[in-house]
Amino acid sequence: NQGIGSWPARRARMTPDRIAISHRGRHHTYRDLRDRAYRLASALDVGRGDRVAFLGANQPASVETFFAAGLRGAVFVPLNTRLAPPELRFILEDAEPALLVLGEEHDGDGLPGRHLRAADYEDLLASGSPEPIDEPVGPDDGCLIMYTSGTTGRPKGALLTHGNLTWNTVNLLVDVPLAHDEVTLVSAPLFHIAALAQTLLPTVLKGGRAILEPSFDVDRTFDLVESERVTVMFGVPSMFAFLARSPRWAGADLSSVRHLLCGGAPVPEPLIRTYQERGLSFLQGYGMTETSPGALFLGPEYSVAKAGTAGVPCFFSDVRLVTSEGSPAAPGEPGEVYVQGPNVTPGYWRRPEATAKALTQDGWFRSGDVGIADEDGYVRITDRITDVIISGGENIYPAEVESALYEHPAVAECAVIGVPDERWGEVGKALVVPSPETTAEPEEVLKHLHGRLARYKIPKYLEFVADLPKNSVGKLLKAPLRQLHGG
Ligand code: ATP
Ligand code: MG
Repeated sequence: NQGIGSWPARRARMTPDRIAISHRGRHHTYRDLRDRAYRLASALDVGRGDRVAFLGANQPASVETFFAAGLRGAVFVPLNTRLAPPELRFILEDAEPALLVLGEEHDGDGLPGRHLRAADYEDLLASGSPEPIDEPVGPDDGCLIMYTSGTTGRPKGALLTHGNLTWNTVNLLVDVPLAHDEVTLVSAPLFHIAALAQTLLPTVLKGGRAILEPSFDVDRTFDLVESERVTVMFGVPSMFAFLARSPRWAGADLSSVRHLLCGGAPVPEPLIRTYQERGLSFLQGYGMTETSPGALFLGPEYSVAKAGTAGVPCFFSDVRLVTSEGSPAAPGEPGEVYVQGPNVTPGYWRRPEATAKALTQDGWFRSGDVGIADEDGYVRITDRITDVIISGGENIYPAEVESALYEHPAVAECAVIGVPDERWGEVGKALVVPSPETTAEPEEVLKHLHGRLARYKIPKYLEFVADLPKNSVGKLLKAPLRQLHGG
């Protein structure tokens, strides 16, 4: 078995007594993880290619089900716990799992298919055998169907193979030198690709210890970093922003931290500076579910010099930027980000049309994001193509305007969208969540942009709002904003 299901057993050959997983003060060694994955795999009544879904927060059962499914050649389908029942039903009807494994906090009521309740989980496991399972699973076999975040529409199930996820781990380890004794805090949800593929899998591969947290909490994060001496953590930008804004930030002992990995959404430059000024290795990456997810990575040597970019392509992947005319974008010129490599999905689950649209004939994945490369090939991700504002024939990239807004101390959070305009077709409108201590007026914040940005890029309107709509990972949702503000 060359699949990822075999990783706990491979790791247990060398370091059986090391702790693999910690959860609520309970610890599982690599030997435990191996035996429990074998037991569950032998007890699961599923065949090759069958789907096994999991609904629950980060907990050992989720990790064990992932490895056990992999051992059987079945495909793991993690479900987003924040989805409403009709959304979950949509995904379950799409994935048609042979079994839905339920985490502790879910009863599965109203959800279709065969269920394994948390109360029955240990009994099933105990009925299985800890003997090795030798199902021939290879790199081209499906490992995971992960639904995209649904930022731009309905979530799509990206099929990722054992090879895709293995290569992503290799790409990560080439540039983030994880050690054998890493203590990784996994508080981003494992039903999104980054937590699973950028932290859990590399940690298991190296024999480190993953602390599973059911959700992200600022105080709990500081507690764990200090008491467990956490060395690695992944977060989306909003998580790192919450930490830096906490009253505990200044006095926290962060001396154990070796690598902070940030990505999944645009990373505001002031946030990068805040972490770098603290002497922390704050690494950024860009990727998406469909690329397992790493596509671009900003290494530690250049994280200051190239701050604001998402870096260069990961070692075994390639990225190119393509203009709307289909030609290669020159340095400084915006283009759609295309990704190729062994980490790229073979396609969406049961969505041949979406697959044909996203994958070119010669195997490039079209991200739908706009990027601009500098002379050295460092790519700045600007926006989703659907968010670009066209005003009087000029393209305005909201991310650039948002960066300029973030330079003003009154701006805690912001989003720039396009709204219809008789004269220009579209103009920019900025929605700003003011920082709690500010007394500034909206006009003052707008004025701050003059001289910093070309006139046509300056939003015509700027409004203070109490909050901005986000999806379950904390990504800003621009579609509902446009609806709300007449875009
Ligand atoms: P959906 O595809 O369902 O609309 P989604 O694209 O948000 O949702 P994910 O695959 O979780 O789902 O997220 C990938 C997207 O996140 C990228 O296409 C990009 O728009 C954004 N992203 C990821 N990393 C970065 C980054 N470092 N900078 C800017 N944007 C990023
Ligand atoms: Mg997407």
